[in-house]
Amino acid sequence: MAQMSAAVFNSSLQYRTDYPIPEMKAGWARIAVKQAGICKTDMEIMKGYLGFTGVLGHEFVGIVDQCDHPEWIGRRVVGEINAACGICDFCKRGLGRHCPNRTTLGIDRHDGCMADYCMLPIANLLPVPDDISDDRATLIEPLAAACEILEQMTLTGDERVIVLGDGRLGILCTWALSTVLPEVTLIGRHPEKLAIADWRETRIATTPDGILPDADIVVEATGSGQGIVTAMSLCRPRGTIVLKSTVALQGNVNLSPIVIHELTILGSRCGRFADAITMIKAFPDMPLERLITGRYPLSRVAEAFEQAARKDAIKVLLEIRN
Ligand SMILES: [Zn+2]
Ligand SMILES: [Zn+2]
Repeated sequence: MAQMSAAVFNSSLQYRTDYPIPEMKAGWARIAVKQAGICKTDMEIMKGYLGFTGVLGHEFVGIVDQCDHPEWIGRRVVGEINAACGICDFCKRGLGRHCPNRTTLGIDRHDGCMADYCMLPIANLLPVPDDISDDRATLIEPLAAACEILEQMTLTGDERVIVLGDGRLGILCTWALSTVLPEVTLIGRHPEKLAIADWRETRIATTPDGILPDADIVVEATGSGQGIVTAMSLCRPRGTIVLKSTVALQGNVNLSPIVIHELTILGSRCGRFADAITMIKAFPDMPLERLITGRYPLSRVAEAFEQAARKDAIKVLLEIRN
C-alpha cells in the first residue's frame, strides 16, 4: 500500500512516514495538502479531548489530487471540516454542520490534514481565488468561525462591541466585526498581540478597568472559561454575550447577572468558508499574515506544537509541499 508522511496522534504525537495514503471514495476528493495550521483544538485533542486518534489537523489549503469529478482535479481548495451524512433531518434543512452523524476532519473519526493527503466530500470544497495567497487561505477556517457571529446576529451597524481575548480567535472576531461596526474594543493581556490586532478603528485595552459596562455585544474568546464573568460585567442590560471559547466552565460562577440584566447568551462555533472568502476578497488589507508566528516542515511537527503552545504564539503553520 502506498504510504505518506503524517502527524498522527495516538496517545502521543508521532511523525510517521509510513501512514497509508487514504483510499478514494465516491463523491469525495483526495487533496494534496500544501499547508496546514495548528489550532487550539489540536492542542486540546492532544490532552485527550474527544478521544480522537488519527491524523491531526483541520486547517489547510491544498490541491485536489484525485476525484471522480474531473473538473476539480488540480484546483487549489480549502474545505469545510464537517462531513455531514446528507440524508438526516438536519442535513435536509441545510444544517449539515449540526448533522448528528457527521465526522470532522482531524477532530472526530476522520483523518485530518497534517499529512501529504487528506479526504473530504466534494460538497465541502471551495476553490481558492488566485488572488488569495496560501497563507491567507490557511486562515479561512478560523476567519469563518469569526464570520459566524455576523451570520447569527442581525446588526443595525451602531452596536458597541467588546471582544475579550487576544488569541487568534479574539483578533479575528475583532477584525470581522470591525468590517461592519465602528466601535469594537479588544481587551487582552498581551501588548504584543494587541499590537498585531491594530487594524481599522479597533480600540485596544489591556484591562477591562475603566471600560464602560455598556457594550451591546461582548464576545468571549479568552479560552479560559472565566471570561464569562468579565463578559457579564461589561454587557449592558438586554445585551448579548457571544461565547466563542469551547472550554468547560470551572468552579462556581454566579450566573444571576444573566437573569437580572436579561442578557442573551449566544453560542457560536464554526462558520461558512464562503463568508470568510467573501470577507478576504472585500478587505484585501485585513492583515491576516500578521497572525502567522511560526513555520515548520511536517517532519518537525513536534517542535511546531511546542511553539504553538507558547504564550506568544498566535498561528503556527506546517508547510507540507510547495
Ligand atoms: Zn481550528
Ligand atoms: Zn446528516
